[in-house]
Amino acid sequence: MIYADHAATTKLSQTAIHAMLSCMEENWGNPSSLYRFGQKAAEALNEARERIAACIGAEPGEIYFTSGGSEANNQAIISAAKNGERKGKKHIISSAFEHHAVLHTLKKLEKEGFQIELLPVHENGTIHPEQVADAIREDTCLVSIMYANNEIGSILPIPEIGVICRERKVPFHTDAVQAIGHIPVDVKAQNIDLLSLSAHKFHGPKGAGVLYARRGIFLTNLIEGGAQERGKRGGTENLPAIMGMAAALKEACCHMEENNKKILLLRTQLIEGLSKIPHAALNGDLQHRLPGNVSFCFEGIEGESLLLLLDDKGICASSGSACTSGSLDPSHVLLAIGRPHEVAHGSLRLSLGAENTEEEVAQILKAVPEVVEYLRNISPLWKDKQCGKKAFIL
Ligand SMILES: *Cc1c(COP(=O)(O)O)cnc(C)c1O
Repeated sequence: MIYADHAATTKLSQTAIHAMLSCMEENWGNPSSLYRFGQKAAEALNEARERIAACIGAEPGEIYFTSGGSEANNQAIISAAKNGERKGKKHIISSAFEHHAVLHTLKKLEKEGFQIELLPVHENGTIHPEQVADAIREDTCLVSIMYANNEIGSILPIPEIGVICRERKVPFHTDAVQAIGHIPVDVKAQNIDLLSLSAHKFHGPKGAGVLYARRGIFLTNLIEGGAQERGKRGGTENLPAIMGMAAALKEACCHMEENNKKILLLRTQLIEGLSKIPHAALNGDLQHRLPGNVSFCFEGIEGESLLLLLDDKGICASSGSACTSGSLDPSHVLLAIGRPHEVAHGSLRLSLGAENTEEEVAQILKAVPEVVEYLRNISPLWKDKQCGKKAFIL
């Protein structure tokens, strides 16, 4: 099997497994208990908090453990909205190609009377900092722009947006789930007030994540309960998963440069190879791009059929986001960068990790053109395009 879907999830690293197993076997106490066995668990929790804080340039007291990226996004946005509402500020700026955990939270707030402004995304998958500057109003209570897009891999100008938000005194949240562990992020240097990350996107366990909230930034609870997470997130901490997350993040950050050197080489080979397919186009920007992301649209095919045929050849890939698979709507991300519906349906995302090999890339480069050609040959629409009855788009 060739796994090329690291943007959907990643395999647990051995380091993470080891950290989790030893926690489950030896350190299973409740961190809130006062006896020594409980305090041993509390110490481990603190160490994990320190380790994660160090990886993103935060202080341990600014790290809140959550059940993942989705919960962190929900809590960040709802907190900023509640705080804004108290001051009569109900305008929120975000972008059209955010993850659904952001977009659906904003939809909910819109029903509660908030004004949501989704900035349009440029063809190359970016937002210009000036768009944010121009959109900020007296009553803006939050800017939420993702660090890197999960489908097309574009990296956004977060430090520049951070400067603008700090100057205008507007809280700035970034969904950095695709960035953390893959490219350097520093919340202090980049003026980030709120940030979401998720362990299973950097070889940690599923169901664990972090909300970073800068000291002094208002947080409200999604989950009421005990005094865990300084009263901001009730519930006994998932210590094994947190230990796995901390170990995985430290490992990812320590090996980031060497991993990326290798991954970039594979990405370049894939992009060059797939670009040779006629009527195909790369999605997103070639420069400002996550090291592992390859995203293409192929005219005249259905992404879902492409995935099934690639699965037959042992290749795990994705089309649009995993969350939209199962619905017939094309990806909102591809529509946001201006791909017409018909083209957006024929998308393929390959996301690489350090475990992928040149041999695997060669196999993918053999399989994808074959499958695309096969699907085009059985498509009546494609025949119409070839004989000139319909125009090609790409
Ligand atoms: C995966 C992902 C999420 C959701 O994280 P979970 O931990 O799976 O809830 C949010 N945002 C982005 C950009 C993602 O890629």
